[in-house]
Amino acid sequence: MLTIRNLCAAYGKVEVLHGISIEVPKGKVVTLIGSNGAGKTTTMRAVSGMLTPSAGEITLNGERIDGLESYAIAKRGLAHSPEGRRVFATMTVRDNLLLGAFPRLTGSRPRGDVAADLERAFELFPRLKERRTQLAGTLSGGEQQMLAMARAIMLNPEVVLLDEPSMGLAPILVEEVFRIIAQLKERGVTMLLVEQFAAAALGVADYGYVLENGRISLHGPAAQLRHDPAVKAAYLGG
Ligand code: ATP
Repeated sequence: MLTIRNLCAAYGKVEVLHGISIEVPKGKVVTLIGSNGAGKTTTMRAVSGMLTPSAGEITLNGERIDGLESYAIAKRGLAHSPEGRRVFATMTVRDNLLLGAFPRLTGSRPRGDVAADLERAFELFPRLKERRTQLAGTLSGGEQQMLAMARAIMLNPEVVLLDEPSMGLAPILVEEVFRIIAQLKERGVTMLLVEQFAAAALGVADYGYVLENGRISLHGPAAQLRHDPAVKAAYLGG
């Protein structure tokens, strides 16, 4: 479904990703683990077209997407919920969600039923339903993060990139985010997940990759990585 082959990416002359390869099969959750600055966010940005890769191939359902504009990539069904709280502050919660559906309405993929998808998003995120007429900029930080995630889902995507969905959230909201990820998985949504809570990420994922200084150092089934001594020592708190 999503295949990343020998991907390189740089900021100016500084190369950050040195040829990484990742497979995200249909219906699976794959997690990318790594310490600060390893290149996880850069990987997500290169896949969604926010950053143009300097080398390598990225395919979605067999078609090359590397080098396309991010809007064109979204139209093909790849949604990116970026790190941080990126919402349209002066628009309502509902309008933010409807914007998430916009690229699919202009693409060649089936348009689907936006109203039904909005209801489904509200089922997953009841907090957002209560606040649907509120301006996004007045939501709490945690609620804004959930809105960014819900907006990505509104694309009715083939694949979702989730970059640190639990960042900065209170523990109870972190649990809620992982509960939502598990529900999305049950619905068959394909996901590439970057998370600071590596143990929880490996708990929900099928497969994991470890990124160290822009290279994949290890990969395997999530259950296996959870018990790997090196992974435990470096990322799971011993
Ligand atoms: P974290 O867990 O801290 O978010 P990460 O694994 O997501 O880290 P990236 O954000 O991808 O790491 O950063 C990888 C490297 O690229 C870091 O050394 C970072 O300083 C550098 N970098 C990231 N964004 C830029 C930028 N816009 N310009 C220059 N260098 C950047």
